[in-house]
Amino acid sequence: MTVTVATLGFPRIGPRRELKFALERHWSGKASEAELLDAAAGLRAAAWARQKALGADWLPSNDFSLYDHVLDTSVMLGAVPERYGAAPGEADLGTYFAMARGSGETSDCGHNHGGQTALEMTKWFDTNYHYMVPELTAGQKLALNRPKVVDEYREAKALGYETRPVLLGPVTWLSLAKGRGVDPFDYLDEVLGLYAAILGQLANAGAQWVQIDEPVLVLDLSEQQRRALTRAYAKLTRCGPKLMLATYFGGLDDNLGFAASLPVAGLHVDLVRAPGQLDALLAKAPKGLLLSLGLVDGRNVWRADLEALLDRLEPIAAQRDLILAPSCSLLHVPVDLALEPKLDDEVKQWLAFAVQKVDELAILARALNEGRDSVAAALAASSAAASARKVSPRIHDPRVAARAAAVSADMRERRSAYPARAVAQQATLGLPAFPTTTIGSFPQTAEVRHARAEHNRGNLSAADYADFLREETARTIAWQEDVGLDMLVHGEFERNDMVQYFGEQLEGFAFTVNGWVQSYGSRCVRPPILYGDVSRPQPMTVEWWRYSQSLTARPVKGMLTGPVTILNWSFVRDDQPRAASCRQIALAIRDEVLDLEAAGAKAIQIDEAALREGLPLRRHDWDAYLDWAVDCFRLTASGVADATQIHTHMCYSEFNDILPAIGAMDADVISIETARSQMELLEGFADYRYPAAIGPGVYDIHAPRVPGEDEMVALMRLAQAHLAPEQLWVNPDCGLKTRRWEEVKPAIVAMVKAAETLRAAA
Ligand code: GLN
Ligand code: ZN
Repeated sequence: MTVTVATLGFPRIGPRRELKFALERHWSGKASEAELLDAAAGLRAAAWARQKALGADWLPSNDFSLYDHVLDTSVMLGAVPERYGAAPGEADLGTYFAMARGSGETSDCGHNHGGQTALEMTKWFDTNYHYMVPELTAGQKLALNRPKVVDEYREAKALGYETRPVLLGPVTWLSLAKGRGVDPFDYLDEVLGLYAAILGQLANAGAQWVQIDEPVLVLDLSEQQRRALTRAYAKLTRCGPKLMLATYFGGLDDNLGFAASLPVAGLHVDLVRAPGQLDALLAKAPKGLLLSLGLVDGRNVWRADLEALLDRLEPIAAQRDLILAPSCSLLHVPVDLALEPKLDDEVKQWLAFAVQKVDELAILARALNEGRDSVAAALAASSAAASARKVSPRIHDPRVAARAAAVSADMRERRSAYPARAVAQQATLGLPAFPTTTIGSFPQTAEVRHARAEHNRGNLSAADYADFLREETARTIAWQEDVGLDMLVHGEFERNDMVQYFGEQLEGFAFTVNGWVQSYGSRCVRPPILYGDVSRPQPMTVEWWRYSQSLTARPVKGMLTGPVTILNWSFVRDDQPRAASCRQIALAIRDEVLDLEAAGAKAIQIDEAALREGLPLRRHDWDAYLDWAVDCFRLTASGVADATQIHTHMCYSEFNDILPAIGAMDADVISIETARSQMELLEGFADYRYPAAIGPGVYDIHAPRVPGEDEMVALMRLAQAHLAPEQLWVNPDCGLKTRRWEEVKPAIVAMVKAAETLRAAA
């Protein structure tokens, strides 16, 4: 039997973020459309050459995107909302970028004049990649735009590569779409007609196989989705190319029999997230179904244990043809470990980025086709790395283990319940009704970023940089006092990123130089790599807090990132449960909380911006996650005295389904995002009585727009429909770091006035 290697998608951004820079040059008018397209073609050619050289037999095409593959699909189908003004089937690159980023001029005052807003953006399943939400309205006309999938197939062919084009499946696309006055699934037949036409064009161009991604198959499927999948594949299977139906980000579970019975030629499954599904799949998969096994982790950076995989694969490969693949597209991992000169050799030998992962698959395939001896040295190296990692003292710190084992239930309990704490806190803080505060950061101006870059490059001494930061902080404290905010923040000027800043000061984290992963469009993040037991060698934020508090008599909040957020925004260990890693981080941040309290902080904010997005994809896994996530937050927060006020912040708009868990975090004050939804979010508070204080954001910091006092008063009145006045704080939606001072100043002044108006009316 034959074993081959496939990739489902390769990072688009380029080894050195070449795509990002090409896009930004184009957007700023410094590069023409042709120059951008040229750069993009160069990246595609390089990616094909690279994967081919590494030993991939099945190369993907159309995995590349100038912005987002979901947006590509929407444009392909002609699902272009009318407001972008493109005639059906005639969306051009300008339309595409307008959908991605909005259009129109942004003036000096930061306002968008006369342009169109972008499509909504949201997270792709449980990744940190964001896609542009497809929009469908009643009576909309769909029509194929010039399909890039066909162009890119031809482009590869002209370069000598036979590829397997990748399409986002119609049912996943419809499931992600937002209907305005219409159920997206009303468009099923029309969409299927367009997919059939595309598949026909691909067949004409010579494509034998097409990879069609339906990650919805790992979710709890509705009857409507099942029916749509049945209908879709009955139709699409007859259009020419053989279909490799790709599922990823989890196990098929209860959908396994259903997926295996769809009339497709191949099925890809994720055996990293769900190794257990292999046996069931082998039992259910018809003999003629070509199986593609997702064996190396497309979502994480660890090297695989190849010999262990071979033990599992050999008996199967003796029975049937197999494709070996990463669990999902390699979009979610950095490109190449060889570009990391600064990682120390010990940590480095445990890692594999996209390039290394394809290499691993090629080694596995060769071992299966030609025997283990043919790759003996590579297998020995893989095993050696796996065993070294199991026992390395860099990873295993007995003190951390002992501490985690000694965590007791009372460490997760505040001394008193909220009502008693509220009294104690009010006695020390003496805040007015409707207290005002902000979420932590103030504008990270070009000046601030420049100073940091100069310091990193060694052009600005540590002392000069610290002086600069102290000045910024002092000015910001003074300004907050002047405008009359009640609870102040230091502004976070010293922080590059809310996770990285802490990761860099904790044991157990490593950082890359080029380990960029696309977040959205041209934006990339470099997630920290959590490789070992976590501890905190010394206080991380106390000095900045102490300095800030020395400048004012008003309370300054200590400002920390919570354990769940640090975990969810990092590449984390795969050699212990996420909950165990999270608990270690929680203990480290708990130490910081206690040091801040000892230094005199009366209020400490522990941000959990990413708690909601860590929710598992399947409902039946939610409770287990929420249990340990909430536990970790409580472990972080509960060591303090009743009089110390614990704040938390969450920036998302969908958490009505987890309100009891939010309540169980037992924070004294929570600030949340609500301004964009006109407090709709608070409707959940009608059925669930939130026990503590809450600041529903009244200033949408995601847009340059400056809201007026009246608007904010009106929003707070809406909030009072669900919450008692004594529960309410007045604050923006999120941190102000992405805004400009010119916007922030009038908005915060108006916000303070709004609070005064509310107090006067109370
Ligand atoms: N304290 C952080 C800030 O203000 C919170 C950021 C966030 O929630 N994403 O920037
Ligand atoms: Zn936020």
